[in-house]
Amino acid sequence: MSDSPIVIVGSLADPHAAAIFDGVRARGCEPVVLDAQRFPEDLPIALGEAPDAVVIEGRRVGRPAAVYVRSLYQSPAAYGVDADEAMKEDWRRTTLAFRERSTLLSAILLRWEALGAAFYNPSANSHNITKPYQLALLQAAGLPVPATLWSNDPAAVRRFCGEHEAVYKPVAGGAATRKVEARDLTDERLEKLQAAPVCFQELLPGDDVRVYVIDGRVVCALRIVTDAIDFRQHEQRIDRIELDDAVARECVRAAEVIGLRYTGMDIKADRHGRYKILELNPSAMFLGFEARAGVDIRGPLCDALVAHRGA
Ligand code: ADP
Ligand code: MG
Ligand code: MG
Repeated sequence: MSDSPIVIVGSLADPHAAAIFDGVRARGCEPVVLDAQRFPEDLPIALGEAPDAVVIEGRRVGRPAAVYVRSLYQSPAAYGVDADEAMKEDWRRTTLAFRERSTLLSAILLRWEALGAAFYNPSANSHNITKPYQLALLQAAGLPVPATLWSNDPAAVRRFCGEHEAVYKPVAGGAATRKVEARDLTDERLEKLQAAPVCFQELLPGDDVRVYVIDGRVVCALRIVTDAIDFRQHEQRIDRIELDDAVARECVRAAEVIGLRYTGMDIKADRHGRYKILELNPSAMFLGFEARAGVDIRGPLCDALVAHRGA
């Protein structure tokens, strides 16, 4: 076994980071934690000009064998970040401080990646994760994606919604998916697109399925049974299902195209029962699905991380 450590990027107060920490430890290997929530107040980091000159809390990390990235908590709106007071006091200064902090942390991850550490996965702001780019990469690879329009142009939106029964949802995230109704296409309503673009997409009325892929293998597929259009907070039941070989192959291929060793993908069936890919999440949560469906996702994920120590 090599001395290269397994690194967990995330706070141990974050249940997903803690679950991976425990799992890696249970496999006989003490992970290094880069807890970005403690940085810079409470976590000393020193970076030199050499790629492997990264010292965290007095320990020179060198080249990690594998890195699990839960979150760098880079945005004032990220999970577990409380920037309300600082923003109220001085939003400009707070925003700049976040940028300084995140620039340094991102550089650490990029260096480790360049040194050949196996990433599970790049952080969420990496370009392949950016949704309107991700879907285009999948489409170009010949994978099934829903007809989609990202736009602030009322004429383009009216045209798209004339051709498709459609839903709308945020470009990056932060709000629920809703069905487009006639009242959404009035001048007054579409004027709101001047504030921000929106994602319009062909309505997929079929099954909602979450697929976990690790190192080129489907670990499990879970059907979320619900009446609501956006399943979150509306789950009624989660069942483990077996995917057809062809669909499983598409999921594995999608993870490869986007460059994710670990992903929780969302796929949904169209009215013909044909699955289309909604998205690949880079730091997909798994604890809720494990508890509800009785599956094991963290086990294979920890096995995958630890396997790189032998490499
Ligand atoms: P997020 O990153 O917010 O999870 P998704 O694209 O996965 O974004 O959308 C969230 C959920 O909204 C999906 O899991 C699904 O239940 C519903 N949804 C999204 N797109 C569509 C669509 N085109 N048709 C029907 N439901 C959709
Ligand atoms: Mg989703
Ligand atoms: Mg998502």
